[in-house]
Amino acid sequence: MSGDKDFSCIGGLEKHIRIVKEMVLFPLLYGDVYAKFNLKPPRGLLFYGPPGTGKTLVASALAVECSSANKKVSFISRKGSDCLSKWVGESEKKLQTIFTMAQQTKPCIIFFDEIDGLAPTRSSKQDFVHASLVTTLLALMDGLDNNSEIVVIGATNRIDAIDPALRRPGRFDRELYFPLPCFKARKEILSVHIKHWKQKPAQKFLAYLASQTVGFCGSDLQALCAEAVMCCVRRNYPQIYNSSSKHHINDRQLKVGKQDFLQAQQNIVPASHRVAVAPIKSLSMKVQPLLQNNLTEISSRLEVLCPPEMLNSESNIGKSSSKSTNCPRILLCGNDDSHTRHLGPALLHNLEHLPCHILDVTSLFEETGRAAEESIILKMKAARRSLPSLLYVPDILSWWSLVDEAARVVFTSLIRDLDRSINMLIITTATCASHEIPPEIAILYDEHQGEVFEVRPPESQERRAFFIQLFNSSSDGISEKGSQDLLSSTRRTKGRRRVKNSKSVGSELIASNSKTGMRKECIPLGEGPPTKRQKMMYASNSEKLSAAEVQELLHKIVKATEMWTSHQLESLYASLELTLEKSFVDVFYAMDVCLTRFSNVIEKLRPCEINEET
Ligand code: ADP
Repeated sequence: MSGDKDFSCIGGLEKHIRIVKEMVLFPLLYGDVYAKFNLKPPRGLLFYGPPGTGKTLVASALAVECSSANKKVSFISRKGSDCLSKWVGESEKKLQTIFTMAQQTKPCIIFFDEIDGLAPTRSSKQDFVHASLVTTLLALMDGLDNNSEIVVIGATNRIDAIDPALRRPGRFDRELYFPLPCFKARKEILSVHIKHWKQKPAQKFLAYLASQTVGFCGSDLQALCAEAVMCCVRRNYPQIYNSSSKHHINDRQLKVGKQDFLQAQQNIVPASHRVAVAPIKSLSMKVQPLLQNNLTEISSRLEVLCPPEMLNSESNIGKSSSKSTNCPRILLCGNDDSHTRHLGPALLHNLEHLPCHILDVTSLFEETGRAAEESIILKMKAARRSLPSLLYVPDILSWWSLVDEAARVVFTSLIRDLDRSINMLIITTATCASHEIPPEIAILYDEHQGEVFEVRPPESQERRAFFIQLFNSSSDGISEKGSQDLLSSTRRTKGRRRVKNSKSVGSELIASNSKTGMRKECIPLGEGPPTKRQKMMYASNSEKLSAAEVQELLHKIVKATEMWTSHQLESLYASLELTLEKSFVDVFYAMDVCLTRFSNVIEKLRPCEINEET
C-alpha cells in the first residue's frame, strides 16, 4: 500500500472525501459525540465504479489521515484474493484473524480491495468455498455492534458481482459511486499529478488537456502525465536510447511542453475506451453552423425541465424548477438523424458531470443468453444507484421492433414509474417525425411540457454558413477541438490574420490568393502542419475563385439543398470538397454535376418516404 498519499493527493473527489470523513473517520475519532446524539455510524461502506477512479487511493489516503490524527486509528488492508486459500477452512480462518486483529487494535478500519473476488454472488453454480466465505464474512460483520469502533470498507469494479446479502442494512449499508471524472475533476487530477514538477504547464493548457480527455479515469491521467515526461526525455535526450553508459540528464532542461502531452495522448488508450466507447463528443467546428441553434434550443429546454443542480456540477442546492410530475426527460426526434449522431453526443459532453448509462442496441444484446428485459432492468438499476444520473437511449427505434413485448413493457413501465423526485435525466433519440413515434414511447413524453423536441432541418442561413467553409478552408483543421479557451483564442488569432490576408465577401471571409498567408493561417494551435488534403485545396480551385464566383456557387448550393437533412448536407459537403480539390478546368461544371447527382438521389428517396408513410 502506498502509505504516503494523503487527501491532498486526490483530485476531483472532494465530495467523496467529505463523506468518507463523516462516515468513517469522525465516528472513530469522536465516537463519544456521535454516541451522545445517538448517531449510528455505518458498519460497512462499499466503494464501486470503473477501474482507476480512485477507490483504493481514497482508502489508502484515509489510512494516512488515520495515522496522522491525534487518536490513532489502525488500518488493515487486504485484497479480496489474499484471503483465499486452497486448503479447506483456511480462507475463513484468515478472515476471522483479520477481524480478531481489528478487535485488538480498535478503532480500526478494515479495507477489502476487489471484494468481488472474496464475496461473489452465491449461486447454485458457485463453488462451496466461496459460498462458505461469504457466509463467514456476513457472520463476522453481523457480529460487530454499532459502537464496535470497527468499520469495513469494500471496493469493487463490479458491484453486480457482489452477493446481495452483503449489501443489506447492517453490513455494507452505504455505497459510494466513483464515476469517471468530469472536466473539472480531470483538471484537478492533472494538477495533482504535476504538482511537484518544477516547470508546470500553464493552467489554460491544463484546461485544454482536460477537455480533450473525456473518458479518461484518474489512472489514465496519471499515465498521461508520466508518458508526457517520457516524450520530453525522448525529445531532449534521444542519445540515451542508443547508449549503454549513463548520461547526465539536466532536469532543468526538461520542460514538459504541449507537444509532449499531445504526443502522449496519442500513445494512451483510456481504460474506458478499451471496454466501450461512450458517444460523448462536442459538436465539431464543421457541423456547428448546421446544428448549434438546435443544440442551444435543446439546452434551454433542459434548463426548464431539470432541477438546476443537475445541470451544474458546482451547485448542490436548489429546488426543481420543473412543474412536471415526471423525472426530467426529453425525446429528440426528426427524420434527420443528426440528434443521434451529433446532438445527443454533444449533450452528453455538456452534461459529462452526470454518470452516464447508455441503453442502446449493443448494450441490450451484448451478453449472449441474457434477455433484453433483463438488460433493461440492470441498466435502470445502475442509473438509479448513481443519482443524479443520465440515461441515454440513442436511436430507440433501432431496437424497438427487435425486442419482444415483455422488454417493451418493462422499459415503458420502468420509465413511467420515475417521478420528479428522482434526479435521472433521460435523453432518448428517435429517427422519425414526432407523429410517427410508436404510441407506447410517445406516451412517456409530454409534448405540452416541452419533453418532445423535433430537430428541424437546417435553414438557408445555416446551410450557407456550413458550405462557406468549403471556400474558407482554414475552418477545417480545427474541428473537434473542445477547449473553449483555446478555441476562442485560436479563432481570435485566425480572425485577425484572416483580415490581413484575405478579402471579404459581404460579411463573410473568403480565403485569399496569398499562399503563404493561407498556409500560416490554417495551422491550428499545436496541431502540426496542414493535412495533404488542405495543402491541395489551397493550391487548387477554391483559391482560383473570385468572391463573386464563390457567392454564385454558394447561392446555388443553398437553393438546391432546401429541406435536406444534416446527413445529406454533410455527404454533399464531402463530395464538393473532393471536387474542389481536383484541379478541374471548370469548377462550376464539376460542382453542378455533383449537385445534380445528389439532388437526383435525394429526389428519388422522397417519393419512397411518402410511399412508406402511406
Ligand atoms: P481503483 O481502486 O478505483 O481501481 P486506484 O485508486 O487504484 O483506482 O487508482 C490508481 C491510480 O490512479 C492511483 O494510484 C492514482 O495515482 C491515480 N488516480 C485515480 N484517481 C485519482 C484521483 N481522483 N486523483 C488523483 N489520482 C488519481
